[in-house]
Amino acid sequence: MEKINCLDLKGQHEQIKKEIFDAFERVYEKTAFSGGPFVEEFEKHFCNYIGANYAVGVSNGTIALHMAMLALNIGVGDEVIVPANTFIATAWGVSHANATPVFVDCDKDTWQLDVSKIEAAITPKTKAIIGVHLYGQPFDVDAVLALCKKHNLYLIEDAAQAQGARYNGKTVGVFGEMACYSFYPGKNLGACGEAGGLTTNNEKYFKHLQSLRNHGSVVRYYHDEIGYNYRMGGLEGASLTVKLKYLENWNNRRREIAFRYQKEIVNPKIKMQSKPSYSDGIYHLFVVTTENKDAFVKHLVDNSINAAYHYPVPCHLQKAYQHLKYKLGDFPNSEYLASHCVSLPMYAELTDEQVNHVITIINQYNG
Ligand SMILES: *Cc1c(COP(=O)(O)O)cnc(C)c1O
Repeated sequence: MEKINCLDLKGQHEQIKKEIFDAFERVYEKTAFSGGPFVEEFEKHFCNYIGANYAVGVSNGTIALHMAMLALNIGVGDEVIVPANTFIATAWGVSHANATPVFVDCDKDTWQLDVSKIEAAITPKTKAIIGVHLYGQPFDVDAVLALCKKHNLYLIEDAAQAQGARYNGKTVGVFGEMACYSFYPGKNLGACGEAGGLTTNNEKYFKHLQSLRNHGSVVRYYHDEIGYNYRMGGLEGASLTVKLKYLENWNNRRREIAFRYQKEIVNPKIKMQSKPSYSDGIYHLFVVTTENKDAFVKHLVDNSINAAYHYPVPCHLQKAYQHLKYKLGDFPNSEYLASHCVSLPMYAELTDEQVNHVITIINQYNG
């Protein structure tokens, strides 16, 4: 059997190559390379898809998180609660705004922010909580919102891995003040290039975000505040408009594969993320844990299956944050995940035959 990769972007891009190239041609003819009509068109479709009033396209997801902080006036001396189990960029958004990320452990079953541990991390300096819909699974939005209300905090959703995931039937990205997205090529909705975005229902934030990404300017060459060049490119915008049409189908195919993994992988050495009743995820990643991850990955590789680790070091133990003085043992669930997680192949173009093979090989593992 040919090698099965953890993620393979080729199949998807072969399917839509002609449509994407036609879209690129339209951008080229208009020379609308930075911001402009192709980004606006995507923004219009994307906020409809999410069910939010406004969308703002930016250059990547990390920047989207930084901009959310700026729009909420979060900066020096402020603290923001961030899950210890997430991709590091969630915390970058806070650090780039010169505020301090305060990490909280994840739940041992859902692997999402442990809501029962948030209150102990709140101080008078806390301004916001960034909830991450990690691996494409919604976190417990209502529970986090209740805490935000009680302590007068903002909620920002990091939906970088969760475009189209639903919480209690509603598409995520409409629950917080703002939601941040990454359209990095490997995400469920990925541009042909680097891109990111935000959605909000608040017109004030929307206007501010539009100005911040464009040098702090509403009227050209008049700058009302120190701004940034955080615009999305036209080619990226055009590619996203094409791909958004397919997103529901691609997400549904991922769900189908995930349901098969959940049902048919019966090896007791393999543990999976629990699936609360509010959660209808889109399986950006399919992460499992096992006691000896290196032996498990070797078994997979020996049988033509590539796996990956998301993420091998939790945020609080990254060297970049050593000045915050966290130590091993602070967040045991996140640390356990980091040292035991393995991501199985997950993308919409996996064939049934490939999925069969993955399941069979995993069920044969006895390391
Ligand atoms: C990918 C990702 C980001 C950052 O997005 P980029 O577009 O890569 O900058 C932020 N948060 C999470 C959870 C991500 O997975």
